[in-house]
Amino acid sequence: MNNSTSTLEIEVAPTTRDAMLGVYRPPELRFVAGEGSSLISEDGRAFLDFTSGIGVNALGFGSPVIRAAIEAALDTGLIHTSNLFRTAPAEALASRLIELSFPGKVFFCNSGAEAGEASLKFARRAARAWLGDSATEEAKAAKHQIVAFKDGFHGRLHGTLAITDRPAYQAPFAPLMPGAVVVDLDDSDAIRAAVSAERTAAIIVEPILGEGGVRPVSAAKLMELRALCDEVGAVLIFDEVQCGIGRTGEVFAWQESSVLPDLLALAKPIGGGLPMGAVILADRVAETIQPGDHATTFGGGPLVASVALAVLETVAQPDFLAEVRRKGALIEAGLIDIASRHESVLAYRGRGLMWGLELSVPVADLTAAAFEAGVLLVGAGPGVLRLLPPLTVTDQEIERVLGLIDELLS
Ligand SMILES: *Cc1c(COP(=O)(O)O)cnc(C)c1O
Repeated sequence: MNNSTSTLEIEVAPTTRDAMLGVYRPPELRFVAGEGSSLISEDGRAFLDFTSGIGVNALGFGSPVIRAAIEAALDTGLIHTSNLFRTAPAEALASRLIELSFPGKVFFCNSGAEAGEASLKFARRAARAWLGDSATEEAKAAKHQIVAFKDGFHGRLHGTLAITDRPAYQAPFAPLMPGAVVVDLDDSDAIRAAVSAERTAAIIVEPILGEGGVRPVSAAKLMELRALCDEVGAVLIFDEVQCGIGRTGEVFAWQESSVLPDLLALAKPIGGGLPMGAVILADRVAETIQPGDHATTFGGGPLVASVALAVLETVAQPDFLAEVRRKGALIEAGLIDIASRHESVLAYRGRGLMWGLELSVPVADLTAAAFEAGVLLVGAGPGVLRLLPPLTVTDQEIERVLGLIDELLS
């Protein structure tokens, strides 16, 4: 065992998982604390966490930035007010998101799927409004389709699941949202055939497919989608729930391509571990949205917005982003080396601190063996091992995980 032992002494009452709904299959061991890049188990072992809570814990565990933001927010006594009333943290966060992205407005919600659902509503609203005042009700109703891509992942609610290309996840719950069209991202003819001025309301894509195997989408492909949307009056949605907020070494993944979306969906890391999602709407979409078109009780509450602002200010520092890119290059170099020496490595892909290693051996065996060695890894589909460390990961931690992968493949 490679595990270091934590200095934390934490007493945890015995509990059972019997009352927990069986939709997940976590290992037996319970985690009771976290420090830096590591989770601490109830038996006092430290596990180096290269899942970062599925890309959520960008600043690692026990972050002083997050603690200070929570304490300052608690000092006001305001955790929640609802959106019946104005509060400062949400407004400050929205302004900062706009400064860092593109001119527009922000809608806050509580998760990635909610950001996706809101995006779908905003997209249909905008695409229909863009038809103009002379459009018939029939023409507006027809313009409803959402074009999404094979292996894309957008969430587990009725709209987002309909555009998530996982028949096994979908089938038990059909019928889902009508109007979902899933095509192959590499097949430009199929994409063109799927899109029309009469029917298409939006195209949605992850600039780096996360769950679908960590696949960066080329700038040329994003440009192609942008041009198609412009041609048919459809909304271009980028789902950056996983690849956004510093993960790629830019604040937003699309910035590398400089292709602008009309809607940008954010979640996972934005709230520093508190539940938050957000949609940034370009002005031309935002101006089609009416009061009452969408709402949420919790979205953008003062506590979570204060924490999100602290996370964003930290991550958006040029020095912080440069470190993400530098450490990303370290991982890339390690993966090149591993790929050159192991036939079981079919490909490696990624950017910044988001990497996938496509393997000819079952990834579940590898993640299980890594767990035994004190390293937490997660797959991205059955054949891709995913590296998603906290953005604050150290060089030594990267070396240790690369060394372990090398060893496990041998
Ligand atoms: C995780 C994820 C979602 C769903 O987010 P939840 O918070 O789990 O609802 C949506 N899109 C992408 C790209 C994701 O990675």
